[in-house]
Amino acid sequence: MITKSKGIRLEHISKIYEDPKTGKDFKAVDNASIIIEPGKFVTLLGPSGCGKTTTLRMIAGFESPDEGEIYLGDDPINKLTPNKRDTAMVFQSYALFPHYNVFDNVAYGLKIRQLSHEEIRKKVMDILELVELQGMEGRMTNQLSGGQQQRVALARALVVEPSVLLFDEPLSNLDAKLRVVMRTEIRNIQQRVGITAIYVTHDQSEAMALSDQIIIMNKGVIAQVGTPEDIYYHPADEFVADFIGEANFLHGTLTQKEGGSGMVMIGDYAMKVDQVDHIPAGSRCTVVLRPESATLGTEGQLPCKVVVSCFMGSYQNYHVMVGDTLVKLMEYNPKHKHIFKVGENAFVRFNPCDIHII
Ligand code: ADP
Ligand code: MG
Repeated sequence: MITKSKGIRLEHISKIYEDPKTGKDFKAVDNASIIIEPGKFVTLLGPSGCGKTTTLRMIAGFESPDEGEIYLGDDPINKLTPNKRDTAMVFQSYALFPHYNVFDNVAYGLKIRQLSHEEIRKKVMDILELVELQGMEGRMTNQLSGGQQQRVALARALVVEPSVLLFDEPLSNLDAKLRVVMRTEIRNIQQRVGITAIYVTHDQSEAMALSDQIIIMNKGVIAQVGTPEDIYYHPADEFVADFIGEANFLHGTLTQKEGGSGMVMIGDYAMKVDQVDHIPAGSRCTVVLRPESATLGTEGQLPCKVVVSCFMGSYQNYHVMVGDTLVKLMEYNPKHKHIFKVGENAFVRFNPCDIHII
């Protein structure tokens, strides 16, 4: 339906606000450079206050950057007002007109563009079918469920055939189950239409489920850009590793290197690691170990003592002490495995290719 999706490029974008508490200026977005390819679904992910909404609002034109340039396709758009930008935004609060019915809410942007009656009717009905609201066009929006209201908001954004669709935490007002349903639908619709989508969320599972690319932000700065797999398996730093999923951090020293692998000393224990090209021998490093990547055994890489052993159904949840470091492990399918009890000595076991060194 929409074939003119465009890419977005941010070049060294910063936004300065005054902190109301201290009265001092700070950078809500700090030198952000982003390239978003046409037709991709890209998520800005990070904790509350990290600058996601500010970034999105600068792309939409509701805020202007203090530094840098934003491009839509090849065109600089900093100076364009929101309605000239060929982007459309879906808000958390839906922002529907309560005194309009579904049809008129969706038709609004087309009426402003002065399309004919017939054109408007055709486009609105097509879009309502796409978001599965056919037959609902006469309802007032306050007679709709949260999920239906969000579909109307999505239809209203799509109907004007923008080149880029922007979403600011659109599902946070819905209950957990409906959020999962709606995120799958948003992804399906985006794929069918082929539109570029930029989606803001603080929910890492939402970001993983939706995205071609995730941009992780921390305190106004882009911490990492990558596919969900890149970011999960190769986090750039401890912040990213901890924000996306759960992670254990073991601090040590990289003692020897040979080819792409090496030895890390964690306290008194030496363990073999792979993929350490990026770390010089002799330097301090951190081993990132995902809870599901390790198991407990009577032998293994790191001796430990069990401090929590808890049956969770699909996995046995262990907390163990490796020296002074608490390590959390999830042993999946525990039914036929040996279960270690609190107080027992054991070894943490893992495949060297399942850990990541930063
Ligand atoms: P996020 O969407 O990631 O939660 P925001 O982009 O909304 O974060 O905000 C980033 C930072 O900028 C926060 O510290 C926030 O308080 C601040 N901020 C946002 N809008 C304004 C504003 N209009 N004036 C001053 N500070 C603001
Ligand atoms: Mg926000």
